[in-house]
Amino acid sequence: AKGAGRNTLRFFDPEMQAAATARAAMETDLRQGMLRDEFMLYYQCVVDAEGVPTGVEALLRWKHPQRGIVSPGEFIPIAEQTGLILPLGQWVLEAACAQLVAWSAKPHTQKLTMAVNVSARQFKHPEFSNHILNLLRLTGANPYRLKLELTESLLLSEFDEVIEKMSELRSIGVGFSLDDFGTGYSSLSYLKRLPLDQLKIDQSFVRDVLTDPNDAAIARTILNLAESLDLGVVAEGVETAGQHDFLLRNGCKAFQGYFFGRPVPVELLQLPNP
Ligand code: C2E
Ligand code: CA
Ligand code: CA
Ligand code: CA
Repeated sequence: AKGAGRNTLRFFDPEMQAAATARAAMETDLRQGMLRDEFMLYYQCVVDAEGVPTGVEALLRWKHPQRGIVSPGEFIPIAEQTGLILPLGQWVLEAACAQLVAWSAKPHTQKLTMAVNVSARQFKHPEFSNHILNLLRLTGANPYRLKLELTESLLLSEFDEVIEKMSELRSIGVGFSLDDFGTGYSSLSYLKRLPLDQLKIDQSFVRDVLTDPNDAAIARTILNLAESLDLGVVAEGVETAGQHDFLLRNGCKAFQGYFFGRPVPVELLQLPNP
């Protein structure tokens, strides 16, 4: 692969060169950040129809010494390209399970679920299931509280292996959500075969749900589809009471978005009262 890369740079392309240099710098920086323990998890509440938090989604942040808090959109793609997503993703799972264990000690937090984003590359690693099983065993976290969020890009290859892996983890209680639903490529026949628990309506459909009839139709279609496939649905990116009302009227029972709370460090989470 290295040789091929060199060949494609036969003609000097300053733009490509700059991008490659930036990527290499980011990779070095990411490695250092991991050694220096600069990553942390923010948590965003997922609420039920009454607005009561039933769980959270863990969202990775990088506390960069110079750049401040860096969003995952800026470094996850590079972590995926370089393979650093494997150790980083493992760290995320460990931290999330440790938090579940801490919550399990208190009656008012012990039922909370923890959603963790998993990259396709991470999920497809041959040891992924074993890593999860070991982690659950080691930490004592309840597998029924853990929900893994996968994206449709995962379905582009090795579909049978994906199903097998999901089924294995599901048999011990781990749940699965299909993230950013509606933005990818999954055909309905794929969807039916996947051992899923829920769909997450992508925030791009929620944003203009009140003003764009197409988005409203898509949101309604996803809600109906989930109902007929017996899947749960979480609407993402809910920012206003109007969006919430629309989704609620159309049968949505779980919500996530700034209207209910932004992603925050654990000590700032607004959880049910003791
Ligand atoms: P996502 O999984 O779709 O997460 C939802 C994103 O929407 C988060 O961005 C969240 O902060 C943002 N969000 C939540 N509510 C609202 C809202 O009401 N309005 C708007 N405009 N945005 C809202 P964030 O935290 O920047 O994460 C971006 C993406 O990075 C995530 O999208 C996910 O794909 C990825 N990511 C985050 N953490 C991890 C991780 O630990 N591992 C992996 N592999 N990917 C991660
Ligand atoms: Ca997600
Ligand atoms: Ca999403
Ligand atoms: Ca997204």
